[in-house]
Amino acid sequence: MLSVIAFFIAGFLLGHLIPRVPFMVLSRTSGFNKRLPPHPEPIPLSPRLTQRVLHMRLFHHLGTMTTLLPLVFGYLSILGGQSTFGYGLFLAGGWTLLSRAQAFLGGAPVACTLEMAQRLQLVMNVADSEEACCPHPQPEWWVESVRCASCSKKLDDMLRPDLGRPRKDGFFRGWLRLWISDGYPMVHKDEPQK
Ligand SMILES: [Zn+2]
Repeated sequence: MLSVIAFFIAGFLLGHLIPRVPFMVLSRTSGFNKRLPPHPEPIPLSPRLTQRVLHMRLFHHLGTMTTLLPLVFGYLSILGGQSTFGYGLFLAGGWTLLSRAQAFLGGAPVACTLEMAQRLQLVMNVADSEEACCPHPQPEWWVESVRCASCSKKLDDMLRPDLGRPRKDGFFRGWLRLWISDGYPMVHKDEPQK
């Protein structure tokens, strides 16, 4: 009986983890992060940052596609006799697909969106125009908003999601945090902010 439960849990964990591998692992290679300040420092707004948001969006979507793996392998394991392991895989894969499908009912499909990239571009446009907040605007993306580094005015109250930089909280804690948060910002608006 114990081994049955262990197989089910192993299947479920594996099935839950597979779709998250692209954004948890691929984006964290050092070559990919050379030009960004280390986590968790604020990131200056630039076309590079906008590009990064779009890359992360791609990684998340790639992950949604890899959900097919646990579904297919789960199904095969059920057919092949290793059914508890298979059910675990299948359930976890289905769970991930359902949570991504929620987007059709409203809400962001994944942590990084096209809208986010557009808002960053908008802030940069304003900083370049005559309506800029100060003579030398330096918009930066902090965890809880986009602020100007020169005059510290808040330019956009968009929360910063995980942007794929290697995390300062270390490999395991960083991983666990990413796994739980799925890359979404872990601060909430209604919490008191420092
Ligand atoms: Zn300013």
